[in-house]
Amino acid sequence: MPQTDADLLILGAGPAGLTAAQYGARANLRVLVVEELAPGGQALFIDTLENYPGYLASDPGTGKSGFEFAQNMHRQATTFGARFITQTAQALHKEGDIFTLTLENGEPLRGLAVIVATGAKHRLLDISGELEFAGKGVSYCATCDGPFFKGKRLFVVGGGDMACDEAQFLSHLSSQVVLVHRRDRFRAQKALAERVLHNPHITVRFNTRLQEIRGEKKVSSLVLGNTLTGESYEEAGDAVFICVGTIPQTSLVPQVQKDEQGYIITDQGMATSIAGIFCAGDVRACPFRQVVVAAGEGAVAAHSAAAYIDRITESGAAGEAL
Ligand code: NAP
Repeated sequence: MPQTDADLLILGAGPAGLTAAQYGARANLRVLVVEELAPGGQALFIDTLENYPGYLASDPGTGKSGFEFAQNMHRQATTFGARFITQTAQALHKEGDIFTLTLENGEPLRGLAVIVATGAKHRLLDISGELEFAGKGVSYCATCDGPFFKGKRLFVVGGGDMACDEAQFLSHLSSQVVLVHRRDRFRAQKALAERVLHNPHITVRFNTRLQEIRGEKKVSSLVLGNTLTGESYEEAGDAVFICVGTIPQTSLVPQVQKDEQGYIITDQGMATSIAGIFCAGDVRACPFRQVVVAAGEGAVAAHSAAAYIDRITESGAAGEAL
């Protein structure tokens, strides 16, 4: 076998990538994780992580936020020997059995297997004022930006887990939170949705679309539309948090098989349609995207990658080019 920088290259350090790193390193693989931001992925946006089994957010010492949780996972992975590089990965190629990942500084990293755990990014609403007022009242992360708008009139758009989570978080900062959703019911998990519906600081407006964001230097009002009557109206507001879903980050692996929404399809061992490329977490086609699911998939992906590496190093078989 030619020399490589790692046995296993992991793209992304969210809960899936961090768990894969830990399992890979514990299986005695040389693991290299490439992440462009801080470890944690979408979990960094979770204010209170209350549904990870065995992790009681109320326990002193464990920490309660997704940020603290991610830091613990990162520490655990490095303790077992996984290495991390903070860089943007630009291209992935396969020749024979060797993958080469090119970083933005031009450095090539060579490995025998790859786990794609690149997650998903926020979807834009694509309406007038959204880009113009980004950072000036338009936000995609209440945990990051909410504290700037304490006591203000805040809007949240969306009907999934993220919108409900963000509205809940904002309701601790302001008693004037308005959640607008285009349909007449939430997509979010029932427990979360019920909490929002019973929160006295949150007003829910179903059958409502955000049509335009207005202001001078920052957001001052929103134009909303009732989807049943077709009526539009303008209302004062200081900030709007847009939570209308996510887009899977798959640009490094254009050739792997995906579903109609662009999420990567795998078998039950997290193997993709290309030998040696595995996938885990929010970028994978899966009906339920949760920290615990991403972590579980990361463990399975690392296990399968280890078995794959065993097979190719024993046989020395040449794979296809990518
Ligand atoms: P999501 O579940 O896909 O929900 C997106 C929401 O935005 C839907 O309610 C959708 O409306 C609405 N929407 C989409 N496009 C829109 C548009 N153009 N205009 C207006 N509304 C639009 O996405 P998410 O809530 O961001 O969550 C992403 C993933 O992370 C999900 O799998 C979720 O379960 C997971 N997550 C879990 C937790 C948790 O467990 N605590 C927290 C956050 C996120 P429709 O309902 O009409 O389609």
